[in-house]
Amino acid sequence: MRLTNLFTKTSKTAPADEVAKNAQLLIRAGFVHKEMAGVYAYLPLGKIVLDKIINIIREEMNSVGGSEVSLTALQQKDVWEASGRWNDEVMDVWFKTKLASGSELGLAPTHEEPLTQLMKNHIQSYKDLPVYPYQFQIKFRNELRSKSGLMRGREFWMKDLYSFSRTQDEHDVFYEKISDVYLHIFERLGLGDLTYKTFASGGSFAKYSHEFQTVSPVGEDKIYVHEARRIAINEEVYNDEVLADLGLERSEMVEKTAVEMGNIFTLGTKFSDALDLAFTDEDGTSKKVIMGSYGIGPSRVMGLLAEHFSDDKGLVWPENVAPAKVYLVRIGGDEATEHADALYDELMVQKVEVLYDDRDVRPGQKFADSELIGVPYRVTVSDRLIKSEQYEFTERKTGETSLLTREQLVAKLS
Ligand code: ATP
Ligand code: MG
Repeated sequence: MRLTNLFTKTSKTAPADEVAKNAQLLIRAGFVHKEMAGVYAYLPLGKIVLDKIINIIREEMNSVGGSEVSLTALQQKDVWEASGRWNDEVMDVWFKTKLASGSELGLAPTHEEPLTQLMKNHIQSYKDLPVYPYQFQIKFRNELRSKSGLMRGREFWMKDLYSFSRTQDEHDVFYEKISDVYLHIFERLGLGDLTYKTFASGGSFAKYSHEFQTVSPVGEDKIYVHEARRIAINEEVYNDEVLADLGLERSEMVEKTAVEMGNIFTLGTKFSDALDLAFTDEDGTSKKVIMGSYGIGPSRVMGLLAEHFSDDKGLVWPENVAPAKVYLVRIGGDEATEHADALYDELMVQKVEVLYDDRDVRPGQKFADSELIGVPYRVTVSDRLIKSEQYEFTERKTGETSLLTREQLVAKLS
């Protein structure tokens, strides 16, 4: 992408009312626009990063047999009344609205009810199970406070997968599988070392649910980590009984603050009972479908990545989710332009993602913007270096700079 085609501008300051570091950086670098507290628009660079996060999750969901759908944000109240969750005391984050005719609607904060209802059209027999529909969808939640930038939005992206299984055993096998897949997702996102599978309260149908908690000083949750076993316990269930159950000693646990990036939950027949989602088993008897739900927040992931992978100069994206691999800076006149254009074309052919700073602005601004935007590598083409047929190569993370020939450079990047 050529920066002359990118309409967003970087800025030295963020809106005065924005207190979260992740949003401050993302706004200053032009990745997102703050519409109001907890509501952010994704601009071109931000959309690329969000899509990369989403694609990693999508590949992993497809690997366990997920089928992608896209459900509606507008919700009729009847299915939610059936489960008891239309009530504002039970679900305290509803945004509700009305049709012109006066009928009440809600903006979906999650999708168990409408999906359970919808699946009645598709699940009748044991032969129709198991199935794993999932989606990436903007959820609406009237969060009481929204001061964590992208990490707690009132409108935010969620990946939600739901499992529909014939037996508890079948459910348990899938639950374990997706738990492993979640750890793999956080590794691919560059958060493997910081993320712990965390035991949390299980609801009526399982002893535990599991959260995927990423350690961060800005986290809102408190967890107790067992480093050697790479697991943790959420403070809400942290007691001697749970420690004994998991074979852990209190003395080995370390308290940390963390952000819940995802969670997996055994729903049992809570929703299939409420909405009567049943199937005929092999022996002819009618049974309720056993369900689970599995969420991850791509918006929250993006916020945490910005929060964690940054320094005093700006963002420092991990390569898997960076908006590009290389930031190409051009300094000088016609000769530099010719060389930079040719290098840009060659990298495109090699399928290397490049942000080409072809603007007529001061070199200092190009360097500062490259650091704020946080692409992993910067390549500088200048009149001076062309004479010795060299290119300056700088790693964003370390600031290490070296001079490379064209061949060395292309080999390094492709
Ligand atoms: P929290 O306790 O942080 O409010 P939750 O338990 O309400 O989270 P879920 O309903 O399980 O979250 O949603 C699934 C995932 O969606 C979460 O793990 C998180 O990554 C993301 N998520 C939830 N609420 C928000 C929000 N307000 N803004 C951004 N992401 C969110
Ligand atoms: Mg919540």
